[in-house]
Amino acid sequence: MPFILKIAIPCPLRLHFDYLTDQSDTLWEKGLRVKVPFGSRELIGIIIDFEELEDKDQLGKLKSIINCLDKTSLIPDSLFKLILWTSDYYHHPIGDCFQVALPKKLRLGEPAVLQTETFWSLSLLADNNLTNEKLGKKQQAVIEFLQSQKTALSQQTITAAIGDHRDALKRLERKGLVNQQSLIKKPALYPELIPLKMLNSEQQLAVDNLWKRHSQFSSSLLDGITGSGKTEVYIQLTALMIAEGKQVLILIPEIGLTAQFVTRFRQHLSACIVVFNSSMNDNDRQQAWLLAQTGHADVVIGTRSAVFTPLDRLGLVIIDEEHDSSYKQQDSLRYHARNVALMRAKNDNIPIMLGSATPSLETFYHTQSQRYQLLTLTERATGAFLPEVALIDSTGPKATEGLSSQLYKAIEKTIAEDNQVLLFINQRGYAPVLMCHDCAWQATCSHCDAKMIVHQSRHQLRCHHCGFNQRLITACPECESSDLGSYGVGTQQIEQSLQTFFPTTPVLRIDRDSTQRVGSFAKLVTDIQSGGAKILIGTQMLAKGHDFHDVTLVGILDADQGLFSADFRATEVLAQLITQVTGRAGRGKKTGKVYIQTNQIGHPFWQDLLQNSYIKLAEKLLQERKDSLMPPIGSLCVIRAHAKQQALSLQFLTEVAALLCQHQQQVSVLGPVPAVMEKRAGLFRAQLLLTTQNRKALHQLLDHHMDAISKLKSGRKCRWSIDIDPIDLL
Ligand code: ADP
Ligand code: ZN
Ligand code: ZN
Repeated sequence: MPFILKIAIPCPLRLHFDYLTDQSDTLWEKGLRVKVPFGSRELIGIIIDFEELEDKDQLGKLKSIINCLDKTSLIPDSLFKLILWTSDYYHHPIGDCFQVALPKKLRLGEPAVLQTETFWSLSLLADNNLTNEKLGKKQQAVIEFLQSQKTALSQQTITAAIGDHRDALKRLERKGLVNQQSLIKKPALYPELIPLKMLNSEQQLAVDNLWKRHSQFSSSLLDGITGSGKTEVYIQLTALMIAEGKQVLILIPEIGLTAQFVTRFRQHLSACIVVFNSSMNDNDRQQAWLLAQTGHADVVIGTRSAVFTPLDRLGLVIIDEEHDSSYKQQDSLRYHARNVALMRAKNDNIPIMLGSATPSLETFYHTQSQRYQLLTLTERATGAFLPEVALIDSTGPKATEGLSSQLYKAIEKTIAEDNQVLLFINQRGYAPVLMCHDCAWQATCSHCDAKMIVHQSRHQLRCHHCGFNQRLITACPECESSDLGSYGVGTQQIEQSLQTFFPTTPVLRIDRDSTQRVGSFAKLVTDIQSGGAKILIGTQMLAKGHDFHDVTLVGILDADQGLFSADFRATEVLAQLITQVTGRAGRGKKTGKVYIQTNQIGHPFWQDLLQNSYIKLAEKLLQERKDSLMPPIGSLCVIRAHAKQQALSLQFLTEVAALLCQHQQQVSVLGPVPAVMEKRAGLFRAQLLLTTQNRKALHQLLDHHMDAISKLKSGRKCRWSIDIDPIDLL
């Protein structure tokens, strides 16, 4: 009996496609991958539904699938539902949503098979020392190592511990002293597990309060200052879940700190822990995914897209640094992993824990209304005190461009005491631009409404928005003057000045340029942790999560970015950043000090943040959001368009606005207006803002008109996207 298969195909169309099959020996189910003809191509799609063909007229009209790639679905039912929800909520094509959920090789149709590796174990003969064989040194070493470990070991583990002994193993095998077998390749266990720490009373209370109702949905905020032992709480909850046979999903922000974080879990837990991050290759990613999917993995630690990992025994979701903006995808499917994770926990009826020292206003709002349980850690777990924070008026005396005399003196003192200094520059907003002293010309990108940034070490001008670069010019293109200078301070420039001031102290720069190579960030981190006086200069990458015990002085060079931004979240983000950076000082036994350079020393923001606390400031910001009906009180959606000519983007958005405004008052439609950065990478950008106090009405409105919007002719002359709950309006 033929079947009609409804298939989600990776294409920008907001529909699924019907195909025929007369394969009656296949047990059709949702989530199977099938190869289908699509136009002139063959694509891999996912079955989202199927039914027996009743209307025989259809037989001639529908194409048949080419073949089915899986025997059983790779996507468990609950994840399948989550992906459908994601497609609905973010108004994004269903085919694309499945793409985000699957690793690349599976998307391309490769078979879903776990990689195996060779494991070696002692034969009975060798194990009981019953051999009279004469053994070489290497063979003896292998035997002794296997005896000491008492379990089958992978080739990799043996090599890591005692060096490459492959030849010796082969010889021992011929003598019947060792056996090899092929087992599923899994991340190695930590050789010597470290017992879990004794929690302090606040940590224990947090664990107990979550555990009280751990087999049903609940959301909790673990609000703990930096260094208060949040990670320790995650580890212990994970251990409890594993003991119940459950899996744990842990999301972390997209920054270089995966290794440090994962190691702490591995050191304490005898469990299969798999990791997803942006630096891994496709093979490792597929293996990690399949280990999770087949239930071999107990713990999944990963960045944003790991929220879609298939986990049949999921018992707990943890989101570390829940306020971090990297949880929101900023192109294609613009989902927020925290939001998706909350939905996942709700559907699976399991607890979710959000952790942060600087909770997002969204999360904070829900604790105030008691939808989320609030768990707090108020003290640093190691007994260290939070550092003292002082403002420096950056219009006062300077040691060099961008560095006040006062901060310079503090650096000098710190180095004399053999401690480390961390200087933080918010490079994005404050980097050297090239300017002509005679006519005030400034170097701008020819593709964007943005200034070019001077990269002195490579003699380049580079646009940080589109990647365009050119050689550093020596004469002004407007007036031909050769009196060009760079303004503003970037990491490279500060690095040079400091190296001149302190010639014998290593100065390490940590930004996107210095850590581009895979593994270089991890190496830098090890370097820093090895102690001794050092000056570290960094951008946002350094602000989060790292545990550098010898840092006793933190300087923030350009704190004013964000105080005057047009974006509604700018102050919140600034407060989070300052608080996080502040938390980098005095993590170890030593006390720390933080200096913040600002030319807005009287701004009430500083009063609120420094004399009160982040939470007091958050309360105030939340009140402002309430007054202006902005998120989390109101809901937003931005429809963006870009095209070679601005008129094309505006035309499309004007037509969309006309559709959306019909017969309704619940959703305000504002615009279209050109984007703040109107031109980017050669394209003109415009946007339409939808605001409402009734989230449901917004979604109904979009659902109602989506078909008509998709069919607008003007929409074919530009590229457009829908951003639900945008995190910025720029
Ligand atoms: P957070 O994740 O809140 O920044 P961490 O979990 O990294 O904090 O803890 C900060 C430091 O305190 C780490 O060095 C950690 O090993 C230590 N620590 C955490 N909890 C305890 C505890 N109960 N007893 C002793 N040390 C602890
Ligand atoms: Zn000039
Ligand atoms: Zn550019």
